[in-house]
Amino acid sequence: MSATQTRTGSCLCEANKFTVKGDPMLFVVCHCMNCKKQTGTAFMSNVMFKEENVDITGCQDVGQYADSNNKSGSTILRHFCNKCGSTMFGKPDETRKTGVVYIPSVLIDGSDAWTPTKEVFAEKKCSFVKELVINSPQ
Ligand SMILES: [Zn+2]
Ligand SMILES: [Zn+2]
Repeated sequence: MSATQTRTGSCLCEANKFTVKGDPMLFVVCHCMNCKKQTGTAFMSNVMFKEENVDITGCQDVGQYADSNNKSGSTILRHFCNKCGSTMFGKPDETRKTGVVYIPSVLIDGSDAWTPTKEVFAEKKCSFVKELVINSPQ
């Protein structure tokens, strides 16, 4: 696996296609209520990339929700497919330029090769979710 490998990704209906370059900086499983509500499932698994390594020019029909009612204290722009409703990428709003984009790992082809590096809001974990495989970097 080359560090500059380019992978493709898409939403369910493929109206929104993108590519990512290299491996993610971080792979975070989030158990917060906002992520659970947005995805409609028990937790969200996000891979983080530098903005310059993500090409979203193939995203044709994406909507956004400015989520300011969250535990991070800043507004997160949560994107989704307007056609199929898939959760897409997210990033902080213009007031907090981190240069980092998160993407649900499962949207990316070949993402099964990656293991989460971090789990956040574990105290909000759904009771039926037990131990996940977390590969914390040392
Ligand atoms: Zn779609
Ligand atoms: Zn979250």
